Amino acid sequence: MPPVVLDQIKFELEPEVLFKRLHLDPEGEYAAEMVALAKRVAAVARPKAIYRVAYIQDRGEDTVTIEGVRFTSRTLRATLAEVERVFAYVATCGTEMDEVPVPEGDFLGEFCRDTVKELALGAATAFLTAHLKERYSLGKLAAMHPGSGDAIVWPIQQQRPFFSLFGDQVEARIGVRLTPTFLMIPNKSVSGLFYPTEVDFMTCQLCHRERCPHRRAPFDADLWEQRVGATAPAA
Ligand code: SF4
Repeated sequence: MPPVVLDQIKFELEPEVLFKRLHLDPEGEYAAEMVALAKRVAAVARPKAIYRVAYIQDRGEDTVTIEGVRFTSRTLRATLAEVERVFAYVATCGTEMDEVPVPEGDFLGEFCRDTVKELALGAATAFLTAHLKERYSLGKLAAMHPGSGDAIVWPIQQQRPFFSLFGDQVEARIGVRLTPTFLMIPNKSVSGLFYPTEVDFMTCQLCHRERCPHRRAPFDADLWEQRVGATAPAA
């Protein structure tokens, strides 16, 4: 099945969410300025996603081959042990918001624009998830992401083969490209494999990074043992 693009994604800025993310007092001296900037940024937001249905064709000891692309990750292999069909995706805030100017050195303004981008990415991911669940009659979904969690979990270098699942369509259709160090531009983009499951899973459970502001689940030593099985890096 060819990739599907979702680019009609509604995004509305909620000032109270913005204040919370910015740790800003709604009555404070910067509030009005930041809301005005955030509204200008949100007005041009075009969050998007691309996905494709893909099937697992082969499994090795620590490899999984999906649609002819072989990934090496013991964790991916273990996580997808009972899975046949996955949904490869890239979701993004879009390139448009970077065009809204923020004065050089205005760090709060840059943080504000980045926060709106992050919220737009959240809208794209939520839309994609709801779309997949409805279109494919899916229940619970979990995901793995190249480069997420400890480096050994699913090495970020595998972003390149991951993107190859889409040919050249990721940049051509939703404007996301990889840097030489495998980071995505726009910075508020996410790539990964959704898979149906009954078991909750987040890569934060396999991540030793302390004080991460985005952590969504505590580190799980048992799960690390089951799915990574390597010596944990020094904390
Ligand atoms: S704890 Fe933070 S760095 Fe680690 S996987 Fe979760 S969000 Fe990513």
